[in-house]
Amino acid sequence: MALRKIVVEGDPILRKHCKEVKEVNDHIREVLDDMLDTMRDADGVGLAAPQVGFMRRMFVAEPEPGHVYYMVNPEIVSTEGENEDVEGCLSVPGFFGTVKRPDKIVIRATNRDGERMEYTFTGFYARVMCHENDHLDGVLYTDKAEEVHTAAAPEDTEEE
Ligand code: ZN
Repeated sequence: MALRKIVVEGDPILRKHCKEVKEVNDHIREVLDDMLDTMRDADGVGLAAPQVGFMRRMFVAEPEPGHVYYMVNPEIVSTEGENEDVEGCLSVPGFFGTVKRPDKIVIRATNRDGERMEYTFTGFYARVMCHENDHLDGVLYTDKAEEVHTAAAPEDTEEE
């Protein structure tokens, strides 16, 4: 396992569409493991593959310590409600913004063992998943935020 360099806003990589992962093999697992290390090292709660320059549809998320999700070829199949909260992004360091997200989602994804799973998430978990999923289509939260501001953010804000 190793830390990878996080791509920051302004790099065109972050605006590209990622391709499907054909198979969850050892190489994919290695990248997922590196992504988790890189995310934790940067105190994030989520990290998408393009953020480390790997242009495949997958992300890792840890909305709460120890609750790790490996999401390969994720597909949000339904959304419900609306929830507005502050979020940040490891690729947009030093900024925070208020973004409307669904309050509840159902998402299908292949896990680290290659099994197709279906999850239902609400609140902060749903927010993290939607944020990371957007990265796979070249979308940043700053595209959706009503306002984006610097440093003086709420104390409990976490970067995704
Ligand atoms: Zn992000």
